[in-house]
Amino acid sequence: MSHRAYDAVIIGGGLHGLSAALHLARGGARVVVVEKHWVGRHASGATAAGVRTLNRDLGELDLSLEAMDMWHGMAGLVGDDCGFHANGQVCVAENPAALARLQARVDGLRASGYTHEEIIGPDELRRLLPELSTHCVGASIARRDGAADPHRALRAFRASALQAGAELVEHCGIVALERRGADWRIVGEGGREWTAPAVVNAAGAWSARIAALVGDDIPLATKSSMMMVSERLRPFIRPVVSIMGRSLSFKQSDQGTLVIGGGLQGIPDLDKETSTARMRVLAKGAKASTDLFPAVRDIRIVRVWAGLEAKTEDLLPVVCPSPNAPGVFHAFGFSGHGFELVPVVGAAMADLVLRGQTARAIQNLDARRLMPDQPKDAGTPWVAKTARTAPEAVPASVQGTAQSTVQGAPS
Ligand SMILES: Cc1cc2nc3c(=O)[nH]c(=O)nc-3n(C[C@H](O)[C@H](O)[C@H](O)COP(=O)(O)OP(=O)(O)OC[C@H]3O[C@@H](n4cnc5c(N)ncnc54)[C@H](O)[C@@H]3O)c2cc1C
Repeated sequence: MSHRAYDAVIIGGGLHGLSAALHLARGGARVVVVEKHWVGRHASGATAAGVRTLNRDLGELDLSLEAMDMWHGMAGLVGDDCGFHANGQVCVAENPAALARLQARVDGLRASGYTHEEIIGPDELRRLLPELSTHCVGASIARRDGAADPHRALRAFRASALQAGAELVEHCGIVALERRGADWRIVGEGGREWTAPAVVNAAGAWSARIAALVGDDIPLATKSSMMMVSERLRPFIRPVVSIMGRSLSFKQSDQGTLVIGGGLQGIPDLDKETSTARMRVLAKGAKASTDLFPAVRDIRIVRVWAGLEAKTEDLLPVVCPSPNAPGVFHAFGFSGHGFELVPVVGAAMADLVLRGQTARAIQNLDARRLMPDQPKDAGTPWVAKTARTAPEAVPASVQGTAQSTVQGAPS
């Protein structure tokens, strides 16, 4: 069965697919999202929904800062603030050495003109987190950061994309992509097919398989980040808390439950589309939580889960045109911190599909950096010259601090 022609077909109905659909449809494109299961089935439905610029790798910092501005105006974009509260994200130092590393990062950022992170001492730390253990000596903080409600975000992005004219097909996995003149023939399960000059690959953990269909061999690993949620507790913490040098992301939801994660890894199985929680690893998250907040020592954990997501070698996403297949665009490999980037990456995809170029700072997110057979210095002509180039401007020592703290950890 052949469907009418579209301007773009988006593979994957997670938040990144929906965001691309929204921006494309608002830009006047006829667009369809094809999702193997249902919207939010994988990472976007499992996410901790931290909205974080704190400790971001410099390779994606400018993009992340633009995304943060969009989060602060989210109601204007999708008609709902998606439950976003800008209560800040705090990275706690448990000893002077850890604080010195945070200070070095903040100093490096300042030297390069970034002011979104600052160091706070014990008094401000205790004002913000009165129940924090007294052994913590200071922290870095990004005050405009926060967290949102992933299910509200999914509902809002889906509704806005449909309202803008995008179509959505669920329960149909894409199995083949074939070139047809200037167009792509996109073939789904059950013989369904679509024709369009542009294809957006937003297939999450399975994106490398879609890329391989058009000749892009992009090495990807799989993350299986685990979360645990407690019973409802009295409100006692507003910012999202992480720890320098340990895996933890700790926050309290509007309902009072504690949402605890931070890169604790389960066991992924891409073929079965499952991930298995590992209790011993979750126990490390519980230990870090009780070290920081002794008051939560005797609470009940009511649910644990894990979600699948693609991870790149450098923990930066892939957001670019396909190196080998004109008209195909990739948006995946978010490595555990793609929720915050949702509004801006969709906008960048729409720029690329509609205009062939973007002013958004995706110059470091080219797939060729990961591909053994591709030139590494070929440039990114699809990024307009106006985009900032942070990594060249910031000392390498600062990059290292980001990588070794919470980069790659759900936040
Ligand atoms: C437990 C957990 C906690 C996280 N916490 C945070 C956080 O606090 N902050 C943050 O910024 N990020 C966080 N992340 C990361 C963030 O959630 C993801 O980066 C983001 O949701 C990825 O969205 P996506 O649309 O790319 O992928 P997904 O939501 O996985 O969507 C991809 C979709 O593609 C579909 N698909 C796959 N193959 C095909 C095919 N052949 N045909 C059609 N459809 C297909 C899948 O079914 C899936 O629905 C977390 C992730 C997890 C798992």
